[in-house]
Amino acid sequence: MDLGIKGKNALICASSKGLGKGCAKALAKEGVNIWLNGRNEEILNATAREISDVAQGSVSTIACDITTEDGRNLALSVTPNLDILVNNAGGPPVGNFRQWNMQDWQSAVNNNMLTPIDLFNRVLDGMIERGFGRIINITSSSVKAPVQNLDLSNGARSGLTGFFAGASRQVAPFNVTVNSILPGRFDTDRLRSSMKLSSEKTGKSIEQLLETGKAQIPSRRYGMPDEFGALCAFLCSQHAAYITGQNILIDGGLVSLNL
Ligand code: NAP
Repeated sequence: MDLGIKGKNALICASSKGLGKGCAKALAKEGVNIWLNGRNEEILNATAREISDVAQGSVSTIACDITTEDGRNLALSVTPNLDILVNNAGGPPVGNFRQWNMQDWQSAVNNNMLTPIDLFNRVLDGMIERGFGRIINITSSSVKAPVQNLDLSNGARSGLTGFFAGASRQVAPFNVTVNSILPGRFDTDRLRSSMKLSSEKTGKSIEQLLETGKAQIPSRRYGMPDEFGALCAFLCSQHAAYITGQNILIDGGLVSLNL
């Protein structure tokens, strides 16, 4: 299916690895001109080289911390006429609310709520003028069903979800859609580093924990970044113009409404 977005311009935040990279690759294959982002320049450049091999449009990089004002200023100064914005950043650390202080909360809210809101606000006028805009937020299944020991994520991401429930309806008349994709468990560095922490805590091996985690998923496997990217590309397409304000789970059936 031709997604009808060849030649569009996309900024994909936090995309040198994992789910952001999956989104960037899928958009690049559709002929979208992409701007990749990450803090580690070496990894970012390696990802740009890898994606260039399959890209049908241009591939550029912006090395910066997207959760800072300076980082966002830099990113927006080099991305002309953005048609697509994929909001993403590293997730908050694992842990219970008893262990976090106000600074920890402010950091989680800054990274996973205020940063995407600021970017959205700053790219919106151009999208409205051009009559096309696609905003995708990478959030978490924690928005539908809180994940144990991820209290910072459960809280901060719910704030973002509430904001976009309202804002998405306000921009819908201009063919600007806003949707969030909610990953369950995907095979990325983030998943493996949280398994490493559990391993240190429980004494179980990472492999053992990965197997136990997999067995809890109805699909009996972890998700792959490329399948996450395919959903992102479809939601950015011309065909998805009538889908907005949604929170779409991609989790192999893990989250059940009967929880
Ligand atoms: P990942 O594999 O660890 O990749 C994170 C990417 O984000 C890297 O490219 C990293 O590059 C970049 N990044 C992190 N902080 C950044 C910042 N401040 N500025 C710019 N780039 C930044 O993580 P992932 O699994 O793809 O997760 C992506 C998001 O989905 C996270 O918020 C995570 O909590 C959420 N999520 C993931 C899962 C899962 O199963 N994987 C499930 C639920 C939710 P640098 O470190 O070089 O900056």
